[in-house]
Amino acid sequence: MTVPFLDLGAAYRELDGEISAAVSRVLESGWYILGPEVDAFEAEWADYCGVDHAVGLANGLDALILALRALDLKPGDEVIVPSNTYVATWIAVSAVGAVPVPVEPDPATHNMDPERIAAALTEKTKVLLPVHLYGQPADLDPMLTLAREKGLKVVEDAAQAHGARYKGQRLGGHGDIVCWSFYPGKNLGALGDAGAVTTNNADLADKVRVLRNYGSREKYVNEVQGVNSRLDPIQAAALRVKLKYLDDWTDRRREIASKYGERLAEGGLVLPFVPNWADPVWHLYVVRSNSRNELQTNLTEDGIGTLIHYPIPPHMQEAYKSAGFAPEDLPIARQYANEVLSLPIGPQLALSDVDKVCAALQKHG
Ligand SMILES: *Cc1c(COP(=O)(O)O)cnc(C)c1O
Repeated sequence: MTVPFLDLGAAYRELDGEISAAVSRVLESGWYILGPEVDAFEAEWADYCGVDHAVGLANGLDALILALRALDLKPGDEVIVPSNTYVATWIAVSAVGAVPVPVEPDPATHNMDPERIAAALTEKTKVLLPVHLYGQPADLDPMLTLAREKGLKVVEDAAQAHGARYKGQRLGGHGDIVCWSFYPGKNLGALGDAGAVTTNNADLADKVRVLRNYGSREKYVNEVQGVNSRLDPIQAAALRVKLKYLDDWTDRRREIASKYGERLAEGGLVLPFVPNWADPVWHLYVVRSNSRNELQTNLTEDGIGTLIHYPIPPHMQEAYKSAGFAPEDLPIARQYANEVLSLPIGPQLALSDVDKVCAALQKHG
């Protein structure tokens, strides 16, 4: 590839000495489960998000599952989820025995449309679970208002939106509990799997803290049937290094996004739409084309790496066959799965490479 979709090694090399030193510090400490590095990262992540509590976990899927468990979701309860999201959002709901009830996106933003939620509510609805897809904050205020009126909880999937702001305020504490992934390719990415929840609710933070550690607060005393989903201290140490650079790296993503926006304005692609209350962090730069597959093939031949987020919407996955959806039940999700294309973006992507991507797109436009 002339321009790879994302070069994770480049992020490591930029901070090489610092990450290696942080990892060595953990190796030499002899402390390999929870402990001071995890405590320190939790404090720094909570502080960054402007919230009272962060709890470090093994991955983003567990963050969602444990957030729902902390809210005491029961089998048969319903959770409102976006129809177009990564399947993890749905799987977390199913994992606690609850039922994912999909709501279509606002066609402009690709995020769950607050206007469509009311029609999906039933007596069994317990939680609204918006996703801040591609690093663009979802429109939270109408959802928070609806939740207050109906006595529902709000869980946010912020796995793609580290540092994004909604109406000026960083994500992390708008809903009852907010779920993060630090999967290597995310804007704040570990050297392997990692995740967290953030919240201003001390009781929910405490519940997740106990659940992640076999349901135990005191060694060999188990209050609930928890799981083992503890943030690894080596990952915590690496994340502490990268967190210092997150805002700088987000600025580089913004620069790339604005360059795409200017250069591709006339090209016949549908470009991302950013509402005036949103301050996105450009985890992905997603365009739409009705000849997406052909365009992707042409770009691949030109050495430009692209990906599709996501080619099959959750309701059309084999995994959800038993839920009995027809493909046409959620037409926007289905249409977007056929039209979306993610262009290269990342803090280590050179602006000269962005030029190459734009030139190739113009050639095939
Ligand atoms: C990455 C991601 C997850 C899952 O995170 P993992 O750490 O890979 O388990 C959940 N939801 C969304 C929207 C994601 O992008």
